[in-house]
Amino acid sequence: MEQTLVLIKPSAVVRGLIGQIITRFQNKGLIITGLKMMQLDEKICREHYAHLVDRPFFPFLLNSMTRTPIIAMVLKGLDAVHVVREMTGATKGRAANPGTLRGDYCMSGQENIVHASDTPENALIEIDRFFSQGEVFDYTCDMFKYLYSPDEVEF
Ligand code: UDP
Ligand code: MG
Repeated sequence: MEQTLVLIKPSAVVRGLIGQIITRFQNKGLIITGLKMMQLDEKICREHYAHLVDRPFFPFLLNSMTRTPIIAMVLKGLDAVHVVREMTGATKGRAANPGTLRGDYCMSGQENIVHASDTPENALIEIDRFFSQGEVFDYTCDMFKYLYSPDEVEF
């Protein structure tokens, strides 16, 4: 079953939204397989946002992502990468659809409360970037038989 990386950004940590964001993912039926608070530094931000380092706003993004600790989490489910991206919504909060996390909780294109992996390939890379071996847990979840049908998932 697929896993994906979510970061709860400083804007959400400071605004007291950690619990609400985690609850949304749990209510959907995604399983938490990794969860921790960590302080990002410039090195990991440059790696994580390598596609944006040359953009004029990068210094603002770097400052935004490092000013408080973040929550990193790994979520597991069928098509988890796509499901979590859809739940996250468009990059710019004020353009994101209501019902998505960004659509419901933020206004900004930068302070947009969560990061979510965009492809299964990137999810594997990003989980490795933020979690070491032993920090992501593979445990049996009895709930699966109430979340999926037997032809969707092997129990
Ligand atoms: N970002 C920004 N200004 C922009 C585009 C992106 O500050 O014009 C920030 C924003 O926090 C965004 C992150 O850079 O979430 C990564 O950008 P990306 O295009 O990968 O968007 P995402 O995948 O997060 O929707
Ligand atoms: Mg992205």
